[in-house]
Amino acid sequence: MSSFDVVVIGGGPGGYVAAIRAAQLGYNTLCIDKWRSHKGGPSLGGTCLNVGCIPSKALLDSSHHYHDAQHLFADHGIQVGEVSLDLKTVMARKDKVVNNLTRGVQGLLKKNKVELRTGTAQLREGKRVEVVSEDGQVETIQAEHIIIATGSEPVVIPPAPVDGNHVVDNAGALNFAEVPKRLGIIGAGVIGLELGSVWSRFGSEVVVLEALPDFLAAADKQIAAAAMKSLVKQGLDIRLGCRVTGTSTSDAGVTVTYEDANGEQTMDFDKLIVAVGRRANTEGLEPEAVGLELDDRGRIKVDANCATNVEGVFAIGDVVAGPMLAHKASEEGIAVAERLAGQSSHIDHTIIPWVIYTHPEIAWVGATEAELTAQGIAYRSGTFPFLAIGRAQGSGQTEGLVKILACAKTDRVLGVHIFGANASEMISEAVVAMAFHASSEDIARIVHAHPTLSEATHEAALAVDDRAIHI
Ligand code: FAD
Ligand code: AMP
Repeated sequence: MSSFDVVVIGGGPGGYVAAIRAAQLGYNTLCIDKWRSHKGGPSLGGTCLNVGCIPSKALLDSSHHYHDAQHLFADHGIQVGEVSLDLKTVMARKDKVVNNLTRGVQGLLKKNKVELRTGTAQLREGKRVEVVSEDGQVETIQAEHIIIATGSEPVVIPPAPVDGNHVVDNAGALNFAEVPKRLGIIGAGVIGLELGSVWSRFGSEVVVLEALPDFLAAADKQIAAAAMKSLVKQGLDIRLGCRVTGTSTSDAGVTVTYEDANGEQTMDFDKLIVAVGRRANTEGLEPEAVGLELDDRGRIKVDANCATNVEGVFAIGDVVAGPMLAHKASEEGIAVAERLAGQSSHIDHTIIPWVIYTHPEIAWVGATEAELTAQGIAYRSGTFPFLAIGRAQGSGQTEGLVKILACAKTDRVLGVHIFGANASEMISEAVVAMAFHASSEDIARIVHAHPTLSEATHEAALAVDDRAIHI
């Protein structure tokens, strides 16, 4: 029987990163992952690389170019004639990006001397793990420490069972063979809005049905309102307070039944994307075999150090509580590996950045106004519109704003919220500032390069103290 110091179950951004860090620290490490490429070999990177962050952004960028060629190039004096879309090439490019990266992860594991097994891992008493390969062969492995990083799966709701044809989940929505004319999306969450934007730019008429009355309830209200206005202007038909209660499919497409304030409604679509969230994945792992405790949402229970109730067994990423984000999974993986080696690694879960890749992008870190109000914390707010930023004017990306919330007493930055082009990159400055407990005055006194979009962050910091210059 093979034995390893560290056995990592799952090769997503949580698992493969944990495995690399453990190996860097001198541990004899094994990573087990069950994802296979269509050719049958391993396809590392989990949800993120195979059907999540990376392919969705590859399509997002292709759809942007298509949209800009049709609608924006002329503003810059560039005439391109009739623009047409070759979806096959779009998909092939996306698949190539995914293949490059999944193979890249395999190369990184090899470089760091992490052993790899492709198969489903099952937990067994005494820190043993059985790996069941596709052909049913079972290998038993002895571990000193186990890190579970089995990620998440799309939530399936009874009114809209996924058939992989007319009704798809997030994976199916990345692989349409043609642009659906009428596309329905259940759920106006991160995934629904990103994929809705992609297909809308490719030419679909998109209707998003969301059960909740509020749009993007987790985001700052002002930012959510600005984003809603912009997405509707772009052509997304976002219907709030609409709970989907049933679907029926035929050769022609799918009929969706939903309830809104006026009663029962129906709508016909060519394709329907079910994007109602994701749930922790412990399928095949058999956590009960070793007495691993789960919470009421099926997530593995862990303490602040990602330790489970079973000695020597840790869990990280989407399979435990917290935001289902790739960077959160990776940082937890690094921290667990370093703690095994006696280091005191710490993750501040209050400053994990969120990004929603609509256009413009939505990004935030820290508290919203509503959260500060609920906690009774007095704050000052500074906002600044991109419209007043030279670089934004130059690139024609004038939509949106930066908003900084700072403690009224100490001026410490408590939250930064951005709606605008490149918000995903701009948010890093805010994360760094908050990690170093910066005040809004600190950001205001830092020299920001000109002309850049980040000048909006500088001006928003000045605006906290009512001294913005360019407005
Ligand atoms: P996963 O990436 O889910 O990886 C788990 C791995 O474990 C998988 O390979 C799985 O096959 C394997 N596995 C499971 N059970 C077993 C078993 N018993 N034995 C062996 N292997 C097993 N996050 C962001 O931060 N930014 C984004 O822009 C973003 N966009 C997204 C877009 C979409 C469409 C989706 C669906 C998700 C997106 N996410 C994004 C979320 C992100 O993908 C996840 O938060 C991240 O992948 C979680 O990493 P993980 O390592 O915990 O799990
Ligand atoms: P997220 O968890 O960010 O991916 O968002 C999923 C969204 O789907 C949430 O906002 C839910 O309110 C929404 N949702 C869940 N079930 C339904 C349903 N039956 N009809 C419409 N929206 C739903």
